[in-house]
Amino acid sequence: MAIRIGIMGYGNIGKGIETALADYPDMELAVVFTRRNPADVKIHTSGVPVVSAGEAEKWKDKVDVLVLAGGSATDLPEQTPAYASLFNVIDTFDTHAHISEHFAKVDEVAKNHGKTAMISVGWDPGLFSLARLFGHVILPDGKDYTFWGRGVSQGHSDAIRRVPGVKDGKQYTCPVESALEAVRNGENPVLTTRDMHTRECYVVAEKGADRGTIENTIKTMPNYFADYDTTVHFISEEELKEKHSGLAHGGFVFRSGRTGVHKEHDHVMEYRLKLDSNPEFTTHVVLAYARALYRFAKEGKKGCFTVFDVPPAYLSSLSGEELRAHLL
Ligand code: NDP
Repeated sequence: MAIRIGIMGYGNIGKGIETALADYPDMELAVVFTRRNPADVKIHTSGVPVVSAGEAEKWKDKVDVLVLAGGSATDLPEQTPAYASLFNVIDTFDTHAHISEHFAKVDEVAKNHGKTAMISVGWDPGLFSLARLFGHVILPDGKDYTFWGRGVSQGHSDAIRRVPGVKDGKQYTCPVESALEAVRNGENPVLTTRDMHTRECYVVAEKGADRGTIENTIKTMPNYFADYDTTVHFISEEELKEKHSGLAHGGFVFRSGRTGVHKEHDHVMEYRLKLDSNPEFTTHVVLAYARALYRFAKEGKKGCFTVFDVPPAYLSSLSGEELRAHLL
């Protein structure tokens, strides 16, 4: 029987899961939950109901894995622990500084209710976390570097939009090519925040707003822009829509280190992602891990897990024999 997937929240990640399911024949969409009026949320899959989030409990025996597809800032810290009392759950929580806290909450609820949960699945956190772990254990005497971009940062775009006089805006995080090359060449550079990334802002100003003031407010904003070389481009609303509505992203994880009796040999490990659609790629990662989560649940594992806890073979629908024959 196919693994029955539920989706909680129909934004970019929710839609991405629905589309991605076409590539996972051992899974099927059972239901989409939303906090909005279900009649206003149109999905693509025929025959699958859109149901109010308040009715979720009625579905607890009809969903094998519930994907929490809300935002990391305020939705997931509430939703993942709440629904871990009813379902096996998986989320993409990406506020790195709060992962431990989020894990502890979800773990407690899942254990108390006999459920299996997995948090912070995606590419970062997720695949990049695995690349960092491999780097650390394989080259213990080394340094690691993570570069992001070029891609849109939702948090920084939101910060721009909160600046007085700004009607709309998008922010791209861009790796500094010279820093990237130095790391790739095994030079082990010491890099500050400013050395690694630049920030490019595309801003639609309100009519009559002072552009100089807007630019200055953005460039001096603490935590978000003050520590970076930031450029601000003023453009029209049409241009923003036409040229800056894409969801491409990606990045690099490097580990460079030395081995040998005299540490005479240099090694560089590089893991790269170049993504045309951040949510579509992320949701493919989520579904592969949802398969593992389902297997964990079948084996009676309870509580919360992360990508670090999953043996790679659990991600694949191939048998151990097939994996050994074709991918080892
Ligand atoms: P969205 O803002 O698109 O969606 C978040 C929620 O907003 C939805 O679940 C939806 O819930 C609600 N919503 C309210 N109004 C609307 C509307 N008009 N249209 C669409 N949704 C609406 O966020 P994303 O899906 O892009 O991202 C979710 C999180 O995933 C991000 O916060 C990010 O942190 C994380 N992420 C993690 C990655 C990783 O690598 N780990 C990679 C990419 C993202 P409802 O239907 O209930 O209203």
